[in-house]
Amino acid sequence: MLIDVHGHIGRVLPDRREFIDAVNLIAKMDAWGIAKTCVLALSEHPEGAYLESDTEDVLAACGRYPDRLIPFCLIDPRYGNRPDMDFSHLLEEYTARGCKGLGEFLPKLDFDDQRCLNLYRQAGDFGLPVLFDMQDRTEGYGLRDDYGLPRLEHALQNCPDTVFVGHGPTFWAEISADVPADQRAGYPKGPVAPGGAVPRLMRTYPNLWADISAGSGYNAMTRDPSFGIEFLDEFQDKLMFGTDSCKRSDVDSVYPNVAFVRELRDRNKLPEDAIEKIEWRNAAQLLDVG
Ligand SMILES: [Zn+2]
Repeated sequence: MLIDVHGHIGRVLPDRREFIDAVNLIAKMDAWGIAKTCVLALSEHPEGAYLESDTEDVLAACGRYPDRLIPFCLIDPRYGNRPDMDFSHLLEEYTARGCKGLGEFLPKLDFDDQRCLNLYRQAGDFGLPVLFDMQDRTEGYGLRDDYGLPRLEHALQNCPDTVFVGHGPTFWAEISADVPADQRAGYPKGPVAPGGAVPRLMRTYPNLWADISAGSGYNAMTRDPSFGIEFLDEFQDKLMFGTDSCKRSDVDSVYPNVAFVRELRDRNKLPEDAIEKIEWRNAAQLLDVG
């Protein structure tokens, strides 16, 4: 069984032909053997070309397939534009309507901007994990951090009751102690140097989890295959399968992240219980979904 913790609907890419509605999403899930998908909202942030995928769109799509689709809500931390903005009226409504997480959180702000810390804390108070995208400062969207991820560490310390789910090129580039400057927003290849920020922070802070979705998660797990297996084994209690499929036409082939977990199982690369945790059990436990 698979739970995809990182799905999308709407027009994520500019091409209208790639619009994903609930029916298209279910078709992908059926093609890839995915039982449930977390549908992450995108449109609350002004960064990027995200259309028709705000929290209301997500709730409407999930309402059509309540046994298959799990809604995540999104709030922009600049709403109210104060470090003490009270978001509880939104968080109360969204949790009452079934939202299980906050994401995909990707404003182009410092990870520990006071407005972000304020929202992380309040999301944690409502039991919502924060699934974030981290990008390099050169990119147009995504949370920003310095080398070694000190701002993420600051947030983990400041918001101990909030679970953070890491995702995105810069987050995963920091799996290695050696982060090439020209690849920090990309997909660095080759051996992982020991002592990277991501394993250090995941080891130190129980509230840092990660999804292994998208090209960035796939690259981090496969660029140094033996390291990837050791990483999956060590953090088997806080890593979650995901796709981050953003196009309707993705249904035409097996998504790389799906092929990756299938291969883990088919080639017995990890013990059965570790594979099950990554495939679905960790997500079911974190999000309290059956
Ligand atoms: Zn995404």
